[in-house]
Amino acid sequence: MSIYTSNIIIYNPTMGKSTIIGSLTTAALLGVSGFLIWKYALDSPTNTAEAQQGAQDLWKKAQNFSLDDFAQVLEGGLDGLDFGQFFDNDPKLGDNTTYVWKSDFIEPNNGGLHLTLLNALDDTWQQEFEDAIADWEQSPALTLDPQRVAVDYDCNRVDGVMVVCNANFGETGWVGINENEIVGGVIYSSVAKMNEYYLRNAEYDHRRYTMCHEVGHGFGLPHTDENPYNANLGNCLDYTDNPDENLHPGDVNFNKLAGMYLSGNRRKTRRLGSNGRIMETHMLVVDWDVLPSYDEDLID
Ligand SMILES: [Zn+2]
Repeated sequence: MSIYTSNIIIYNPTMGKSTIIGSLTTAALLGVSGFLIWKYALDSPTNTAEAQQGAQDLWKKAQNFSLDDFAQVLEGGLDGLDFGQFFDNDPKLGDNTTYVWKSDFIEPNNGGLHLTLLNALDDTWQQEFEDAIADWEQSPALTLDPQRVAVDYDCNRVDGVMVVCNANFGETGWVGINENEIVGGVIYSSVAKMNEYYLRNAEYDHRRYTMCHEVGHGFGLPHTDENPYNANLGNCLDYTDNPDENLHPGDVNFNKLAGMYLSGNRRKTRRLGSNGRIMETHMLVVDWDVLPSYDEDLID
């Protein structure tokens, strides 16, 4: 059994009001999944039930869109919309669960995560993709192999790689989405989708931010901050109302990746079991704050 996970950004262009969307994700499509939700697309729901219904309706509506038809998109892109008016109660808020890729792709002493990215984007996205990948490749914990493949507006998932694609998903409410397929607690595949309904005519900064953000989730990274109105942290996993200050990954993202994929963050412990046997545990430490309580029982 597999589940899909990623983060949700909820957007509210008309007011700063926050609404708990709660289990919107499970109601929407792929089990547990996430996406950038734009509130006006949800008809300004005032409670969770309305939001869930809105999402379901929208998804149905979105299915009527032709993925490769870019005639029906927002003419003005995101002009006049406050990019920062996100809800701050999305289901990932406060959830620091961090997934890493399947161990087959991780060489802790040799470049960390070795990942192929299938660039299934059309011509209009090549610059944003190239720039974002060049940024992420600055991380010592990532060894990336981007490969341009045929344009795939269907954004088909491929085992063992991250697919990056664009299509007109319609007025879905999300501008970008990353879906990580989780099997047995690790990432098996990832798809980062750019929604042309909002982004086809958007300015470079919005497109670039979205690319950096969704690809970043594809490595397993969480948000660094979910308040778009505080000072920008200078990284693309920080919610922002001013994307030109958050176009790139930052040290905080690179440190997190090092923790996830490089050897200095793996540790081995041994403890004496109640049956007198020694239990040796190898763990990849993602977050030092949530280490299991083995420490008290360490015998070396
Ligand atoms: Zn996100």
